[in-house]
Amino acid sequence: MADDIEARLARELPGYARRVVSALEAEGFEAWVVGGWVRDALLGRPGHDVDVTTSAPWRETARVLRSAGIEVHETGTAHGTVTAVVDGRPVETTTYRVEGAYSDRRHPDEVRFVTDVREDLARRDFTVNAMAFHPERGLLDPFGGQGDLARRVIRAVGEPRRRFEEDALRVLRAVRFACRLDASIEPATQRGLLECAHELGQIASERIGQEVDGILATGRAAWALRHEFAVMASAIPELAPMEGFDQRSPYHAHDVLEHTARVCAGVEEFTGGMASQALRWAALLHDVAKPECWSEDVSGRGHFFGHPGAGARTAKRVMGRLAIPGEVARAACALVSLHDFEIRATAPSMRRMLSELERLAPGQARELAFALLDLKRSDAVAKAPACMGYAVELDQMTRVLRAELAAGAVWRVRDLAVGGADVIRDRGIEPGPGVGMVLAQLLAVVMAGELPNDRDAELAWLRW
Ligand code: ATP
Ligand code: MG
Repeated sequence: MADDIEARLARELPGYARRVVSALEAEGFEAWVVGGWVRDALLGRPGHDVDVTTSAPWRETARVLRSAGIEVHETGTAHGTVTAVVDGRPVETTTYRVEGAYSDRRHPDEVRFVTDVREDLARRDFTVNAMAFHPERGLLDPFGGQGDLARRVIRAVGEPRRRFEEDALRVLRAVRFACRLDASIEPATQRGLLECAHELGQIASERIGQEVDGILATGRAAWALRHEFAVMASAIPELAPMEGFDQRSPYHAHDVLEHTARVCAGVEEFTGGMASQALRWAALLHDVAKPECWSEDVSGRGHFFGHPGAGARTAKRVMGRLAIPGEVARAACALVSLHDFEIRATAPSMRRMLSELERLAPGQARELAFALLDLKRSDAVAKAPACMGYAVELDQMTRVLRAELAAGAVWRVRDLAVGGADVIRDRGIEPGPGVGMVLAQLLAVVMAGELPNDRDAELAWLRW
């Protein structure tokens, strides 16, 4: 059985990776494929990048590979890493190493090169990530990663608490891999994770951002919120008040946290697991400002006036801190700020939505319009049963939006059939801000459906 698996892996190992391993071994060094490729190939997903680990010191690695005609880039030599490029495919090749203390909880103070691949495997985070494979020698799995992978368990290599103390980012990595592999977290690892979650505060925020973005990319943020909220709230402290926040409203059957988890699951359902990262971030953060915006009326009912705008501001701050790319962050903030925007299944309403999106996230309105409808639909079904009917209405809106876009919907000044020169000539006004104001008025008239987007009609309007 095991041999069958090793034979399959040997068949699936790409030729370009095999070339790197063989070139090193032909010169008397030892080399193995490690990490993500081995893990994913065991799961039947051999598409992962290949990383190689070797007994050769990096200068030797570079020399040996170059003399075998392989292009080499010195990408991380302080940590023993060079990148070989074979047939245009990069293979990160790293000398066996262990890491020293992490006194700043961010970077190992030093790396120490070692001669035994087992030592290199022992410094890796989880058993499923600590396996090595060689096309002839087979699988090297000193920590039982294969069994854990089959049972879908994330287990720290070594003593969990010590491993999380060395590098608190592993706390988030555990959650990311649990989401990615649809796995559970082994109890001792889970205890270590809870004991060390608060140390995420000392980790560089862009590293946290990468991991949270990775968690969202798995499409299983709902699991992370429900099962590992302490970790999520350590990564993003702004999430903490959502837990247990009773909305005291007939429109909400759940606390803000469970509602948010449902919306995260909903956007995946409605998009068949293909939600954009912007939509995923928006689902996570859409109600983040509800606790701070809460007020109670005389009847004891809760309201959240202004929470979309306040949420967009919080989202902007969070995503900025976590170094999420600007375009994704702008799109996510636009969705958060418009998630309660009133829309109807009519063409003018769809155009108004497009123009609001355009204003908040220039150039992204078309994609975001569908994302916003998916967010609103998920939000509706995640509230109380009374809101389900709205989800049906949203289906109708999606149809109207499609038809509108297909018919060449107008929502930007540049979509108009006339331009600034026409305004200057036919309205007789000087170039300057006044021209833009006239065009904005004309756009409003066309968007409202009071005038067709037709050059003659618009010129007549200008002359009128
Ligand atoms: P992904 O597809 O998410 O990149 P991966 O397994 O390639 O998965 P990386 O973060 O690229 O993950 O890291 C490559 C390997 O390096 C991991 O499989 C793991 O063995 C090791 N590793 C990475 N980061 C850490 C860490 N913080 N602590 C310990 N080992 C780590
Ligand atoms: Mg990787």
